[in-house]
Amino acid sequence: MKLVVSEQGIYLLFKPLVKAEAIIIHEDQVIAAGAYEKLSTTPGISEEIVFKKPLGPGFVDSHLHLDSIGFEKIVRELHGKNILSVLKELKQRGRRIGEWIVSGRLNPVVLEEGRMPIRSEIDGFISDEPVLIIHQSGHVGVLNTIGVRKATSILGSPDGLDVEHGYIYESSLWKLLAYIRSQAGDTELIDAFSKGFEVLRNHGVSAIGLAGIRLNEFKSLLDLYMREKVAIRTYAYILVDELTIHREEFHMVLKLEYPRKLSIKGIKILIDGALGPWTALLSDDYADAPGVRGVCNVSMNTIKDALKFSEEHGLQLAMHAIGDAALDIALDALKSAVNPSLHRIEHASLVRDDQLEAIKSLKPIIVVQPRFILSDKWMFSRVGERRIRWVYRFKTLSKAARLALSTDSPVEPVAPFETVYAAVSRGLLDGIDYGYDYSIEALTLLEALDFYTRGGAYALMDEKLGCLLPGCYGDVVEYSEDPLKTRNISELRSISARLVSF
Ligand SMILES: [Zn+2]
Repeated sequence: MKLVVSEQGIYLLFKPLVKAEAIIIHEDQVIAAGAYEKLSTTPGISEEIVFKKPLGPGFVDSHLHLDSIGFEKIVRELHGKNILSVLKELKQRGRRIGEWIVSGRLNPVVLEEGRMPIRSEIDGFISDEPVLIIHQSGHVGVLNTIGVRKATSILGSPDGLDVEHGYIYESSLWKLLAYIRSQAGDTELIDAFSKGFEVLRNHGVSAIGLAGIRLNEFKSLLDLYMREKVAIRTYAYILVDELTIHREEFHMVLKLEYPRKLSIKGIKILIDGALGPWTALLSDDYADAPGVRGVCNVSMNTIKDALKFSEEHGLQLAMHAIGDAALDIALDALKSAVNPSLHRIEHASLVRDDQLEAIKSLKPIIVVQPRFILSDKWMFSRVGERRIRWVYRFKTLSKAARLALSTDSPVEPVAPFETVYAAVSRGLLDGIDYGYDYSIEALTLLEALDFYTRGGAYALMDEKLGCLLPGCYGDVVEYSEDPLKTRNISELRSISARLVSF
């Protein structure tokens, strides 16, 4: 038994706010909390650990991509200021996986050109090896000519490819990435997971929802958990393709015995794409692309089959729905669920007023990414004035359903206080302009911290997460500063958190 004490106090819960001087942790659970004087005389305490900084419960990031976080640590991030320098960087230091050169994600907004490179531009630098550069959103990539040729033969057709520009979209991109990563081998994959875990630990994230993983990747992760002591708790959501292609294997994997900190929690299904590359499914045309309404990646049959399988196996269905028309599909599917409030809707970036009734009655878990507000600088031009009020309605959604905050990392940085800052500020200090007073959708600091801890616990269906009350997991985070003592919103951004290991 360990007595953990902080000179500045320990947050046990944010809503209602509960604080204590000390807690006792036995194995990995909190068994008592209260005043130091009272707890320190408890018989059986083997060690007393005193922190100068404030402590709190581990952050629960219920939607991120651990393998991608790790692979991005392995492949070099592209930092060039324009397309020319990005391509130079890639040629000199690009990471090879199998025969491919793959980049970390590229955010075209930071480039002088404000766009992704195209096929012919990459050919100008690298023409003898296949290249794949991935867009920040993870929903589109760009290939050089030899890359287009190889991708077409790997995928069996040029579907999802814009051969002229070299763009590769959505499910075709993910299939290609899965192929490339399969060339990486188990060792590299495990290396990627380990590197991902390291990033999470250093940012105070103690539990994650792995939003989309293949069965073979999950098995590698299981290997890692069996071999090493992993501090992070992982709740995995298997990609729906695996259900279609490897149903038998899926059944077998569900019957395996798992280490304490790893489990399969559900099935991930991507209904649409993202707003950045104009692939999120809208009920009306994009304001800046007449005639374009995005893509739908799945059929209702696939969704219903996944829902049925989930409910038969005690799993959750996690449906990615960014555009309002994708949300219609998700809500429609949930109407046939036995228990709609157990399932998750990921993102819900655009919510119409008339959809709120269905959300209120179905009460799904809605997993949002506040940091998108700061990144999606093009939002107004994509959706226009009429729809801008539908964007990132966190306050409204928190009243209608269960809300959980997450990062979708590596789309956004893992750093929890970036997310908290974005949820509280809504970019008001960062020049984000929606043309109306959207501060009405801002969360309070306590709400943001609660949705990022207890909200995540609810999303991952594990009551012991996100709190340090007796009975909760003893996953303790040390903050560089007390988040509740900041004088202004922007100070939140500079707070760091790290997971404490005992
Ligand atoms: Zn995601």
